[in-house]
This record gives sequence, structure tokens and C-alpha cells, in this order.
Amino acid sequence: MSALVELCEEMIHCTRCPLHRSRHNAVPGEGREDAEILFIGEAPGFHEDRQGRPFVGAAGRFLEELLASIGLRREDVYIANVLKCRPPGNRDPLASEIETCKPFLDRQIELIKPKLIVTLGRYSMVRFFPDAHISRVHGLPRRVGNVICYPMYHPAAALHQPKFRKAIEEDMLKIPQILAEASVLGEETEPPQMTEQLSFF
Ligand code: URA
Repeated sequence: MSALVELCEEMIHCTRCPLHRSRHNAVPGEGREDAEILFIGEAPGFHEDRQGRPFVGAAGRFLEELLASIGLRREDVYIANVLKCRPPGNRDPLASEIETCKPFLDRQIELIKPKLIVTLGRYSMVRFFPDAHISRVHGLPRRVGNVICYPMYHPAAALHQPKFRKAIEEDMLKIPQILAEASVLGEETEPPQMTEQLSFF
């Protein structure tokens, strides 16, 4: 069993916070263990909780459309969430829940070693950019340690609001180039172009 599968097992049986009492299933995440791109959403919703899989409802279908726009399927990437269990009624995650669940996401990042982390929505963005405003920084990649972080709007927000929809569609289309640049510069210790190009905020 791989370390990532073991970690998923641990999440499935986790009782570290009260959300385990109301969940039907924990949603550890899924995708390629060696994915170059890791997408991080907020928390499981109704359908994810029922199926134990991330992004399988309406937002998930839209995410799949967005992935298809750059020639990818969900199997080509890894999809996870800040919280692994559904907050009742889809309420916003609590700070205590985010804190308790954080080691799981940290470990997923360590094991998958993505080149690019795409945050979907505010809750996953603030994990990397605590003071940023998503309306200002979406679509702007930035190096954080060894990885490029790329904030995007949450697909659920974009689903029904044309303004966000256009932004998320445009932001998604930039991913192949960001990934190509991340791959070329990945091994360098001093990436001058990347620093210049990526220091947008
Ligand atoms: N929204 C999220 O943030 N994550 C999911 O898995 C589904 C919907």
C-alpha cells in the first residue's frame, strides 16, 4: 500500500474533529499519486459526502468541463479539499476544523509533490496567501517554496455568476503555460524569469 493510500485510510477513519459525527463518508481526495497539478477545494458538499469522492456534484461537473478545456481529465490531476468531511448544511468551515484537518493536506502535498497547486475559492487560497483577496489575486501564479500556487475562483461560485464564470474559464486556460514554465524552472535554485513573471502580488 502506498503512503498516500495509507494516508487516505487514516482520513477515512479520522475522528479528530466533530465533523466525523455528521459525515456519511470522509472525502480524502483522489487522482494520480504523481500528479503535476493538485487542485484544492473547500470541503465536501452533499454529493461528495454521500459518495466519498471530491467534486462529484454540479461544481464537479463544471470543474471537469474546465479541465477538458485544457485537455485534461480528472484522472490526470489530484483533487483534494481543505476539509475532508462535510460541514453540516454546507456551512463555511470553522477555523478549528481547518486547523485540525491541516496536517492531512500538508502530508498530501508532501507525498504528491505537485508542480502546481491550484486553489479553488477563498478557503484554500488563504492557506497559502493569508492576507490576499481573491478578487485581486485570482489568475496570478506565485512561487511558494518549491511549488507554484495559483488561486482561482471556486467553480461553485462561478457556476451561476457570469462574471466569475468568465474569470475562472480564462484562469484555467493559463494553466498549461504556467505548468510548462514551472517544469523548466523546477530544478533551478535561482529562477529569475519565474520570479519576475510570478511576482504579481
Ligand atoms: N466543493 C468543494 O469545495 N469541494 C468539493 O469536493 C465539492 C464541492
